[in-house]
Amino acid sequence: MPRPTKCRRVQYSPDYLIFNPAGVPARQLKEIDLTLDEFESIRLADLEGLYHVEAARKMNVSRQTFGNILSSAHNKIAEMLVHGKALTVKGGTISLKNERLFKCNDCGAKWSEPFGTGRPGYCQSCNSENIYRMK
Ligand SMILES: [Zn+2]
Repeated sequence: MPRPTKCRRVQYSPDYLIFNPAGVPARQLKEIDLTLDEFESIRLADLEGLYHVEAARKMNVSRQTFGNILSSAHNKIAEMLVHGKALTVKGGTISLKNERLFKCNDCGAKWSEPFGTGRPGYCQSCNSENIYRMK
């Protein structure tokens, strides 16, 4: 029996959760789930350019485990790109460190969004779409 997976720490909740190749009818699409810890490994290693040892520390896993997570993420993204599959970001054994904070450029309102709900379309106070993510 495999050991239970230790919680991976995730510091960034993604704004965009669903990716579809253009021009493929929905019923023909094959789907892949990218887990939130895989998403985080891509963000830390490929976007922020951290060394694996640093990224592993941020996610509270060993360097080897981090390497496995990242390699699984790379495989899924390659599958998506090469075979035109739909990709959904969801799931994973994770603990989320920070919540997401948004601010409206028009009225100055600040609010937080629950984890895993994607990017809000407009300000909760004045309905302006001129909003940005603070963290
Ligand atoms: Zn506003």
